[in-house]
Amino acid sequence: MSAMDRYEAVIGLEVHVQLATATKIFCGCSTAFGAPANSQICPVCTGQPGVLPVLNGRVLRFAAMIALALRCEIRRRSIFARKNYFYPDLPKGYQISQYDRPLAEHGTVDVLCDETMHAIGVTRIHLEEDAGKCIHAAGGDSFVDLNRAGVPLIEIVSEPEIRSPQQAAAYMRTIRDIVRALNISDGNMEQGSLRCDANVSLRPRGEQGLGTKTEVKNLNSFRFVQKALEYEIERQAAILADGGQIVQQTRLFDADRGVTRVMREKEEAHDYRYFPEPDLPPALVSEALLGELSAALPELPTARIQRYVDQHQLSLLDASELNRERELADYFEAAVAAGAQPKRAANWIMVELLSRLDDARQPSNVSPQHLAGLLELIASGKVSGKLAKSIFAKMWESGESAEAVAERENLFQQSDEGSIAAEIAAVIAENPKQVADYRAGKEKLFGFFVGQVMKRTRGKANPQLLNALLKKQLIGEGPSLD
Ligand SMILES: [Zn+2]
Repeated sequence: MSAMDRYEAVIGLEVHVQLATATKIFCGCSTAFGAPANSQICPVCTGQPGVLPVLNGRVLRFAAMIALALRCEIRRRSIFARKNYFYPDLPKGYQISQYDRPLAEHGTVDVLCDETMHAIGVTRIHLEEDAGKCIHAAGGDSFVDLNRAGVPLIEIVSEPEIRSPQQAAAYMRTIRDIVRALNISDGNMEQGSLRCDANVSLRPRGEQGLGTKTEVKNLNSFRFVQKALEYEIERQAAILADGGQIVQQTRLFDADRGVTRVMREKEEAHDYRYFPEPDLPPALVSEALLGELSAALPELPTARIQRYVDQHQLSLLDASELNRERELADYFEAAVAAGAQPKRAANWIMVELLSRLDDARQPSNVSPQHLAGLLELIASGKVSGKLAKSIFAKMWESGESAEAVAERENLFQQSDEGSIAAEIAAVIAENPKQVADYRAGKEKLFGFFVGQVMKRTRGKANPQLLNALLKKQLIGEGPSLD
């Protein structure tokens, strides 16, 4: 019996999202990625004595937007708190975060996984500042870069309602999609704008209590979230199956080896000696601001997916694939608005367009209107489905319309009965033996004749017309051969 038959996984995620403000959370320093070390620092974010932090209003606005999108209750007066710990990349000796009165609580994320929508509870969303970065160089020297210190983060803590590694990855992907749709973060995982810590414990199936959990820190890709949890679940299950006990600890995922390793035994919350931050007033969210933000909230990816299913009759799978990137969904809608049949447009986008885009956020060389034009040519029988692919390839190179490419390259489908009949007659004249065999009952040869005619017309003969005429001419009802 496998581990997952005996035990149920209980998973909760803490997702850190870097907000896309131009400046840091409590000072005016730039948040731009990739600047030379310590070039974006000031007395506030390096923790000099005597300075005072001032909350960046945009940070609060962005955080309120995600709180609304996740259907949270938003606290009108939330309180900043000091989280005390010592680390070389934390010059103040504490991180400004929120503790018992965070910005938002009790929300929900709709997560699509295995073609089912799962509502995962959100415990809380709070604001905090990022720490700096230690760089351990070869030769034993260590350096500190404080450019990241004071970069605005929100932490989104889920309820322990996630039940599988796939669901955890889908949850994180959903958060990424939502912050991008809201335009409050670039969600760039390589640059650390989105990362998560995963808590996981096991319990025998059917039981309601919670087992001892471990936490895997700093997972920065959807795949790592899934792999780390898969490993951790197997590891815990093996210990439990042996009659052992899980030790509560913090672990790190080693992506190269696909395993988790112990980082430290878990500190209890009181180890941080949280207390209200005396240098900052409460963060105030007015009714007016909430009203303004609610009214401006864009359609979220999950709502859009559902709309594509209801309105355009796409499958849940296709609808979610198109909504993988907002740019892609916008492209689809523009093609449909230009008259494209939704299901066909979706297929062309997912097969022909996506295979040519390294990144769905880059602009396509084929405009949505031009794609709609190509689909119209196929639907009206002016070009064949097969030739349409090569037309698309040329549209991709030149940026021209389908009509222009088909005209220039002479790729319109031949639907002229007389000229197709003439080609058929020629093929029949050239292959008397095959004609005799066909007429003697070797019906499989039909495909051979189709192929020969297609060859002569360079694939442009209208296939339905060709089939009908060929059948007639082969059984001798067509134009005389002599
Ligand atoms: Zn600064």
